[in-house]
Amino acid sequence: MPHSIQVPPETVRKWQEIVDLLAEIMRVPSALIMQVEPPNIKVFVSSESKGNPYEPAETAPLNTGLYCETVMKTRQPLLVPDAFQDEAWKSNPDIKLGMISYLGVPISWPDGEMFGTICVLDRKRNDYGELFLRLLLLCRDLLQADLRTLTTLNKQLEEREAKIQRLVDADIIGIFIWELGGRIIEANDAFLRIVGYEREDLVSGRLRWTDLTPPEWLDRDFQQYLPELKRTGRLQPFEKECFRKDGSRVPVLIGAASFEEGGDQGVALVLDLSERKRAEAEARESERRYREIQTALAHANRVTTMGQLTASISHELKQPIGACGANAEAGLRWLAARSPNLEEARQAFERITKDARRASEIMNRIRGLVKNTPMDKEWVQINEAIGEVITLTRGEAMKNSVTVRMELAEDLPLVRGDRVQLQQAMLNLILNAIEAMSAIDDGPRELTISTGKDEPSAVLVTVRDSGPGVAPENIERVFEPFCTTKAGGMGMGLSICRSIVQAHGGTLRLSANVPRGAVFQFTVPANRQMSTTLKQA
Ligand code: ADP
Repeated sequence: MPHSIQVPPETVRKWQEIVDLLAEIMRVPSALIMQVEPPNIKVFVSSESKGNPYEPAETAPLNTGLYCETVMKTRQPLLVPDAFQDEAWKSNPDIKLGMISYLGVPISWPDGEMFGTICVLDRKRNDYGELFLRLLLLCRDLLQADLRTLTTLNKQLEEREAKIQRLVDADIIGIFIWELGGRIIEANDAFLRIVGYEREDLVSGRLRWTDLTPPEWLDRDFQQYLPELKRTGRLQPFEKECFRKDGSRVPVLIGAASFEEGGDQGVALVLDLSERKRAEAEARESERRYREIQTALAHANRVTTMGQLTASISHELKQPIGACGANAEAGLRWLAARSPNLEEARQAFERITKDARRASEIMNRIRGLVKNTPMDKEWVQINEAIGEVITLTRGEAMKNSVTVRMELAEDLPLVRGDRVQLQQAMLNLILNAIEAMSAIDDGPRELTISTGKDEPSAVLVTVRDSGPGVAPENIERVFEPFCTTKAGGMGMGLSICRSIVQAHGGTLRLSANVPRGAVFQFTVPANRQMSTTLKQA
């Protein structure tokens, strides 16, 4: 309702000047602005002129000015030149005050609701005249313009208040009104909940933000935040801790603004961060657990890979062990002869020693790959490391009719890293390539393993196959853990390869081979100086 809006003092002072001027110009004792206060009307502003019997009233008197009532009822200007001469006005109450003539016009709020009237009264007969009526109407327009402005301002204020009220009522954000001295004057339930206090604590004045602040924060509040608040009138949200009533602490995000610049009171918004902090801690913990499970799976994967390899490796071992047996028999025969041939026997035993060493080297390499050892940094010659892996996979390649080609660059720098881990990555890539090609029926099955330099100073290893390749939309997905298209696959191989390469400061990428197949490439940073030094030594 617009007529609940209060007319502010500065506007009343302006209106006072208007009625004073009116009284003076029209030479009458009274010029008034009346305000309706249903069911009565009261004197709102009265001219400070000589002989004016009307006093502005706080509340409406019971006997009402009938002149003004009529103006408001008819919403029309009213002229009564002489009440004594008019049957209708003979007994109106203003006559008691000696006022026998009247000219008044209605004032309304922008929505058409009546505000009251502006009028002039005289002790003698007065016809006022056309010019005075126009003057009165002009003044009325000025007052109505003020009412329009007030209504607009009031509406904006109400909207703003409603928004703030919704925020306070929603009880999502803790809100309190503070005093610099420490007192909390008002707070919503959300704030009380955050700090674990009751409304009674607030009402009794026991709640002080200075008491809620742990000592180590209080210093910062006084030295940094309060001066900033004084200076700028606001405080960017920052994280701190508050004491709860039970003495425990709650992490919060808090922002504040003072009501007036440099003022001692203001509002603060408080957000409880416990939930977020807990989620963060949980995320950290699960990431730690997840990392533990990578490591474990990496080992499991290595063991599985080795399982797949056993068949082809046993083929590798069969040859030197068989040769050992044959040579041992031959040696024994040379010794058992009637005239033992020691030279032949010695050669047979030399061959046994060589084959036995080969077998044990193969065994060592397998053991190295199966062992779950932490990253062991050494200087690695990448070609040599690859050579060993290719030896181990030769049987698997043959079994699947895959031709293996090596294009190893000479004069490669050494790389610093864990030899076994790098071999593990290459082993995975090579076995994946062989497996992918074994699934195709036509066309050549070619596996090319090449090494080269990658500028500025890294070694580049490429494993290229002529298998079915990977669809473009899956190129990144295949590196994700548990992504597999194989019935018995774990989907961990490529994800482990990538983490190994990344742990060495390199990158592992997949692209398409032409005309078909997949190309896996990885880089490992190298140390050129070190390679030269080692070579000279
Ligand atoms: P897994 O071998 O247990 O499936 P990987 O992480 O080693 O796990 O491989 C994930 C998937 O990537 C495979 O299931 C396969 O679909 C695809 N992939 C890997 N290497 C190749 C390749 N050389 N050619 C085609 N697809 C491949």
